[in-house]
Amino acid sequence: MLNSQRNAPNILITGTPGVGKSLMSRMLSEKTDLKWVDVSKLATENACLDEFDEEYQCRVLDEEKLLNGMENLMNEGGKIVDYHSAELFPERWFDIVFVLRTDNTILYDRLKERGYCGKKLEDNIDCEIFQTILEEAKESYREEIVHELMSNSLEQLADNVLVICQWVEQWKIDNQQN
Ligand code: ADP
Repeated sequence: MLNSQRNAPNILITGTPGVGKSLMSRMLSEKTDLKWVDVSKLATENACLDEFDEEYQCRVLDEEKLLNGMENLMNEGGKIVDYHSAELFPERWFDIVFVLRTDNTILYDRLKERGYCGKKLEDNIDCEIFQTILEEAKESYREEIVHELMSNSLEQLADNVLVICQWVEQWKIDNQQN
């Protein structure tokens, strides 16, 4: 079995920037004993960022270095991984994948608030319109472990957190080590 060595599940929280991955991951890490792995932060801390890309106004990721650095963490289990791409990671790392979704107008306002503009803003809105990350997730993992969650309001966020907490508890019961 893929997860035989883990005593707690690994969860991937993905979606377009601004859909609420960090906020939800933080809340989940507070309400469960799972640990939040903010991949963008980890990439910076582990010096996995290469030269600056002028077009996208961000630095290029050294994917191999990042993944090597994450391997041991993921093998331990009990991690909530928060990242804006679903195709980067090995399939075996995750027991469940949540793709957060937000209505375009709401997402637009959130990204504007964050200071995004021009091509970066447009590209991210397009990414959400074309459900790019959802498609990526379905191509990268078994469809039955990929779940789409709406994240327009704080109410929806609270409901989502509750459902995931219940899922974590059930996973532990189903995967108890004897
Ligand atoms: P991401 O990690 O996906 O880029 P964040 O968690 O940083 O997104 O959220 C972007 C902004 O939207 C933050 O200001 C956050 O407080 C807000 N936000 C996130 N989720 C929701 C939600 N479900 N309802 C309302 N505001 C939200």
